[in-house]
Amino acid sequence: MPERKIRLFVAMDIPDDIRGLLSDSMTELEGTLSRARWVKAENLHLTLKFIGYLEREKFEKLSAEVCKAAERAPGFRARFGKPGAFPTQRRARVMWIGMEEGSEEARKIAMKLDARLEKLGVKREKRPFAGHLTLARLKEPIDCADYLENLGNRLEGLENMPFDVREITLYESILSSKGPTYDPLERVQLKVK
Ligand code: ATP
Ligand code: MG
Repeated sequence: MPERKIRLFVAMDIPDDIRGLLSDSMTELEGTLSRARWVKAENLHLTLKFIGYLEREKFEKLSAEVCKAAERAPGFRARFGKPGAFPTQRRARVMWIGMEEGSEEARKIAMKLDARLEKLGVKREKRPFAGHLTLARLKEPIDCADYLENLGNRLEGLENMPFDVREITLYESILSSKGPTYDPLERVQLKVK
């Protein structure tokens, strides 16, 4: 991909204790599901808006729009819940953790970003927003109902780990054969409630 474009997305970060819990559970399950590509612990995030490749010269404008969207969205409390899979548990391609609390607030931010960034030529999201934290991608569809149950048991503690979301992050995604690297370019504060 030419250097004049950068691959971007906006995400919500997760606290270190949750990252640690997820990382431990994922490491324990890794061996049992060999055809999965697990997200590295340091890469775990909840995508609010996937931007894709953007011309570098548009970056300043885009960053300003992300700031405006954030300024108008209040900070909120979030909590992760149970694991699930897209498109279905029986033919899973993606395994994720859902939001037990804060999904409506996250959806509102995603909507704001979607509307604002369209002005800069970023494609609008066609699918309804479903806030999720991707844990693994499967090379081919598998029935992962048992893994999800196992994972759900290991992650029961998440339900008691609410956290405050005060900012969102604009990331550059650098893809390589070793997997993606996410470079935080801007951290933008949400409105103080
Ligand atoms: P790889 O593409 O190598 O598997 P990745 O998907 O983690 O790595 P990106 O493709 O740059 O890296 O995606 C960055 C983030 O945006 C990820 O959370 C990804 O799930 C999400 N994302 C990527 N493509 C889309 C898309 N078309 N629509 C919505 N979200 C997307
Ligand atoms: Mg991708």
